[in-house]
Amino acid sequence: MDLSLTDFILGKAFIDELPEGAKRAIQIASYNRQLVNTLEETASYILTMIEEVDQIIIITGFPYESGFETDGPIGALNLAEALMSLNKKVQLSAEVELISIFQKIISLPNWEGRLAFTPIETVAALEDALLITVERPGENAQGRSHSMKGINISPKVYPIEQLFQFIKPYAWVGIGDGGNELGLGQFKDAVEEKIPFGKECQCGCGGGIAVEKKADKTVLATTSNFGALGLALDITKQAQSNWSYSIAKDSQILKSMNALGIVDGVTGEEGTVDSISPELNSKMINQLIKKY
Ligand SMILES: [Zn+2]
Repeated sequence: MDLSLTDFILGKAFIDELPEGAKRAIQIASYNRQLVNTLEETASYILTMIEEVDQIIIITGFPYESGFETDGPIGALNLAEALMSLNKKVQLSAEVELISIFQKIISLPNWEGRLAFTPIETVAALEDALLITVERPGENAQGRSHSMKGINISPKVYPIEQLFQFIKPYAWVGIGDGGNELGLGQFKDAVEEKIPFGKECQCGCGGGIAVEKKADKTVLATTSNFGALGLALDITKQAQSNWSYSIAKDSQILKSMNALGIVDGVTGEEGTVDSISPELNSKMINQLIKKY
C-alpha cells in the first residue's frame, strides 16, 4: 500500500523501527484523523499566503538544559531555504543564543540578502506576516510551557505568545511532533488523551503539556525537522522551484550544530534527533526525498 505523504511524515512507514517517543504524532493523529491537515494543503496555504503578506517569519528553538535541541532548527533552516529559493525574504527568529549558532553554520552570501536574523524579543508587525513556528514550546491554558516530560520550561522561553493577545499573525503555520509545541492547540483533546502528561503535567500548574493556541494550519510529524523538510519539498514541488536536499547536507548541518552544543532533545546526545538513530534518520529522509 502506498502511504499518503501526510501518513508518511507522521511516521507510519517506520512504525516498527521508531523509538517509542517518536510515535507521538501517529498516536495524536489516531485520535481524530480529520484534524490533521494534509502536507499538500499546508504547503499550498503557505504558497497562497506568501503572496499576500509583507514578511515571512520563521520561529524555532526548544530549550534543552542550558542550550537548545536539534529538532526544530534544521527544519526551520530548510523551510527558510525553500522559501528563499522562491525569491522571498525570510526572517529566522529565535533566542539570540540560537541565532548566533545559525549564523555560524550558514553561508550567508548564498542567499543574497534574502535571509535576516531577528532576535525573538524584537519580532514585530505580525499582523502583516506569515508566521511559521517550528518545534517552538507553546503555552497551555494556564500560560505555562512544558517539556515532553511535563516539566515547566517557561523561564527558559521568550513568551512570544503574549504578543498574540494584542497582535494576531496574518497567517500562522505550526509544526510539531508531540502536542506541546506552539500552534498545535488543534490537537489538545488528542494530546490530553494519548500523550504522557498531556492532561496533567509535573509542575503543578493545574494543566497538562497540551497547548492551547491553534495555528491556521499545522504539520504534525515524526519529528518537527522531518515535517518541515516534507513541507519544504512540497512547497518546492508545487511552486516548481529548484530547492533540493540530501543526506549529506543533513549530516553536515547536524554535525555543525552538535559541535556548537545543540543536542538531541530526548537523549542529550550528538548524532541523533529525538532519539532517532542516524541510520533510521537517513532512511526516512532518503525515502522522503524519493517521493519528490
Ligand atoms: Zn504545568
